[in-house]
Amino acid sequence: MKQNYKPGTLCVRAGYVPKNGEPVEPPIVQSTTFKYDTTDDMARLFDLEAAGYFYTRLANPTCDAVAAKIAELEGGVGAVLTSSGQAANLFAIFNVCEAGSHFVASSEIYGGTFNLFAVTMKKMGIECTFVNPETSEEEIAAAFRPNTRALFGETIANPGCTVLDIEKFARIAHAHNVPLIIDNTFATPVLCRPFEWGCDIVTHSTTKYMDGLATQVGGCVVDSGNFDWDAHSDMFPGLTTPDESYHGLTYTKAFGKLGYTTKLVAQLMRDLGCSPAPQNAFLLNMGLQTLHLRMRQHSANAQRIAEFLASDERVAWIRYSGLPSDPHHERAQKYLPDGQCGVIAFGLKGDRQTAVRFMDSLRLVNIATHVADARTCVLHPASHTHRQLSDEQLRQAGVSPELIRLSVGIEDVDDILNDIQQAMNQI
Ligand SMILES: *Cc1c(COP(=O)(O)O)cnc(C)c1O
Repeated sequence: MKQNYKPGTLCVRAGYVPKNGEPVEPPIVQSTTFKYDTTDDMARLFDLEAAGYFYTRLANPTCDAVAAKIAELEGGVGAVLTSSGQAANLFAIFNVCEAGSHFVASSEIYGGTFNLFAVTMKKMGIECTFVNPETSEEEIAAAFRPNTRALFGETIANPGCTVLDIEKFARIAHAHNVPLIIDNTFATPVLCRPFEWGCDIVTHSTTKYMDGLATQVGGCVVDSGNFDWDAHSDMFPGLTTPDESYHGLTYTKAFGKLGYTTKLVAQLMRDLGCSPAPQNAFLLNMGLQTLHLRMRQHSANAQRIAEFLASDERVAWIRYSGLPSDPHHERAQKYLPDGQCGVIAFGLKGDRQTAVRFMDSLRLVNIATHVADARTCVLHPASHTHRQLSDEQLRQAGVSPELIRLSVGIEDVDDILNDIQQAMNQI
């Protein structure tokens, strides 16, 4: 939108501006394909010489409108929706890496992303070195190699709830001439816009807060447009030299600041699929329209629950950066001044079974393999999402066996608190 609207306005209005007599809600264009009058009309689309739609795997009006909203919210120049958060992180990295490349990632990341980077991308010939994000710049820099092409982290780590020092990561990435890619799923652009702190590419699992109602699985990649690929042309030939699979087109030359997202669509989406359904983009947009209201409520409710847990003797430890006692409280005041989201990590005194007894005693709070939902839910990563990781990998990912991930919803906070208290009384 032309005016400099605030995030709350962008949540409701950005990405789609109806013309005279058109529907206020972006229509669901549930069509695989689009019809043209002449062969030449369509040929120009295939050559990326004209803007328009021809096949929904590559682009669709509903998906584009929602991607444009997320791009505006993050303050980026372009965004692409993907079929899942997993696809978003795969595409974000694969767009700058190929077999023989290497990248560096914070070890404090989502278990699914850890597995994608450590196991599956390795099979594709792309190697990842994991670093403890709290170590010094020198130690993190030591993980870089001549073939390193990106640095990756999460704003608020899932499930450890640590806060990334984005400026430090940006300094390290840029000192090595590579982009900083940040998964901003837990913070959302309502609470943190990583581009303002030097990040170059943002990814999302839109399945989480952006949707907020657990109706669709989706992802998004957003480009700030700030990284100068041409200045390091030898490192990013996929972007800066002719793509023979696309008639010798050079993405950065032909599309300037949109080179990264254009390559991601024209090459990766074309060849790997992972495109979202228009219906899902529509559902995602339903959620986005209230994102600013929900993030405020999630954060306020979580603060109250975290304060209760922090003061209870049966709690061994807690991570929630809204607590003044949290090691990342000061950092959160800088990067997340408007709220620290609804997710809390904590451990109960006792063993694995104590966590299980607590969870099985909950009545309102759902046990669910989900997080960042309007409904309060709880998960035990060691027995659920992270069960494929060894104890050593668990520890590396900042997950201990007793860790409980509590995702505080937007119900009345008194009811959430009562349920947690009654369950604690049963352990
Ligand atoms: C859930 C999640 C993902 C994966 O997203 P899906 O939509 O489930 O594929 C990636 N990153 C983070 C931080 C997540 O929480």
